[in-house]
Amino acid sequence: MPASADFVRSRSLWLDELSDLAERPALPGDATADVVVVGAGLTGLWAAYHLAVARPHARITVLEREVVGYGASGRNGGWAGSGIAGNPRVYAKAAGWDRTLAAARLTEAAIDEIGQVVRDEKVECDFVKGGTLVVAANAPQWRRLAQGFESATRLGTVEPGSSLLAPEEVRSMVDVPRVAGGLYTPHCARIQPARLVRGLAEACERRGVVIHEHTSALSVERGIVVTDRGRVRAPQVLRATEAWSGQVAGARASYLPLTSMMIATEPLPPEVWDDLGWPDGLTVRDRRHLFFYAQRTPDGRIAMGGRGAPYRLRAPLAEFGQRDQGVWDRLEHTLREYFPQVGDARITHRWGGVLAVPRDWSMSVHYDPRTGLGAAGGYSGHGVVAAYLAGRGLADLAADRRSDFTEAPWVGHRSRRWEPEPLRYLAANAIVRVLNGADAYEDSTNRRARRTRILAPVLPPG
Ligand SMILES: Cc1cc2nc3c(=O)[nH]c(=O)nc-3n(C[C@H](O)[C@H](O)[C@H](O)COP(=O)(O)OP(=O)(O)OC[C@H]3O[C@@H](n4cnc5c(N)ncnc54)[C@H](O)[C@@H]3O)c2cc1C
Repeated sequence: MPASADFVRSRSLWLDELSDLAERPALPGDATADVVVVGAGLTGLWAAYHLAVARPHARITVLEREVVGYGASGRNGGWAGSGIAGNPRVYAKAAGWDRTLAAARLTEAAIDEIGQVVRDEKVECDFVKGGTLVVAANAPQWRRLAQGFESATRLGTVEPGSSLLAPEEVRSMVDVPRVAGGLYTPHCARIQPARLVRGLAEACERRGVVIHEHTSALSVERGIVVTDRGRVRAPQVLRATEAWSGQVAGARASYLPLTSMMIATEPLPPEVWDDLGWPDGLTVRDRRHLFFYAQRTPDGRIAMGGRGAPYRLRAPLAEFGQRDQGVWDRLEHTLREYFPQVGDARITHRWGGVLAVPRDWSMSVHYDPRTGLGAAGGYSGHGVVAAYLAGRGLADLAADRRSDFTEAPWVGHRSRRWEPEPLRYLAANAIVRVLNGADAYEDSTNRRARRTRILAPVLPPG
C-alpha cells in the first residue's frame, strides 16, 4: 500500500515543512520511453535533469516506488559538502592520483553548480554556502582531525581554503564549552533537503520529464523495466535506487543498508543564537567516530544527525528500523552537551533514513553503451553532492558525451561484495558497538581508544 501524505510528512522535519505534497499519478500501464530512470531521489533526478538539458526532445520517464524524496534525499542532514564519497586511495589505485585529485576538485565545484541550478530553476531550498566547522572536543578527536588534515595535505586532497583552528578560533565561530581545536572548510552549503529534491523534480517536469510515483520497479533489464503497474520499454535504463538496490532483480550492487538518525529542536529564540554565535549557513560536526552533523535551519532550529542504529538482520530496510530511541537519546545528549545554550528547548522532530554502504565505502557509476543499462550509488552517507556528480555522470554517459563527470574515478569502479548474512549483520553491529565504546572511552579519559583497529578492514576511510 502506498504511504499516505501524513506518513510521508512524519519521515522528516524537511518533508513535514512542505506546504505542498501533491502526489503524481502512478504508471497507468505498459509504456515506452527513450530513457527510463528508476528512483526519484537526487541521483535519479539529477540524471533526468541533465539528460533533459542535453537531449531536450528525449522522452524521459522516472519511476518512484513511493513519492519524490521519500528516501535519504528527503531526510538527510542538508549538508551539500565537498570531498570524495569514498576512499581516495581506493580510486587512485585503479585510476591514478591525477584523476583522483581532479575528482576531489570536482566535488568542490559541484556545490557551486548545484547553487547555480537552484538559482536558475528557482528552487527555494534555503541554499547558503556557509562552510563547515569541525569541532574536536578532546585530545583524541583533535589528533584525528590534525592527522587527517596533514595526510590530506600530503595527498593533495585537502580542500583549498580549509585550515586547522585553535580552540579560541573555534569558539569565535560557535561557542562550544569543550574544545581542543577545530577545522574550517568553506566547501559546504546548507540546504533544506526535501525542498531541493522536490524542486528538482519540478524543474525536470518543466523540461518534459514524466514522473510516476507509487510505481515499484520489480526488475531492470536491457530495454525494459518491469513494475507492479506495467512494463516500460526504453533503450536506456538508469537505476538510482541506493539502499533498496538489493530488492530490484537485475541490480548487481552489494550494499550494507545503514541507518542515520536525526533530531530537530523547536525554533530557538534570537538570544540563544547570539550566545552561540553560530552564523546562518554554517554546518557543524565533531570528530567522534560516531560523529554528529548539525545545521542551523532558517527558522532557527538545530537539526542534528548521527549514526549508530542497530542493523536488523531480517528487515534492514524496514521503516521501524529507522526509529531508534537509543540513538535519538544519544543525539539529544550530544546536542545539550555541545550547545548548552539551547537549555531545555523541546525536540520537535525525530527521524531516520537509510543509506547504502559498499564494501569499500566507495561510490560507483556504471553505464554500458552496448546494453543501455546504467546505475549509480553507494555514497556511504555522503551523497548530496555525490548524487549530483553521479547523476550528471550518468546523463553524460547516456548522452554519449565525454566530460569531467564521465572521467571521474568512480565511473566503472566496482566494490567487492559484502560477506553474506549473517556476517554482514555481525559486521554492521560490531562496527557500531566498537565505535560507540571508543567514543565513550575517549570522552571519559581524554585518551585515544585503540580498539577501533581490530575493525580497520571494514571501517570507513579517515
Ligand atoms: C538521516 C540521513 C542524513 C544524511 N545526511 C547527509 C548529509 O547531510 N549530506 C550528505 O551528503 N549526505 C547525507 N546523507 C546521504 C544522502 O542523503 C544520500 O546519499 C542521497 O540522498 C542518496 O540519494 P539517492 O537518490 O541515490 O537515494 P535516495 O534518496 O534514497 O533515493 C532512492 C529512491 O529510489 C526509490 N526506490 C527504491 N526502490 C525502488 C524501486 N524498486 N522502484 C522505484 N523506486 C524505488 C526510493 O523510494 C527512493 O525515493 C544522509 C542520509 C540519511 C539517511
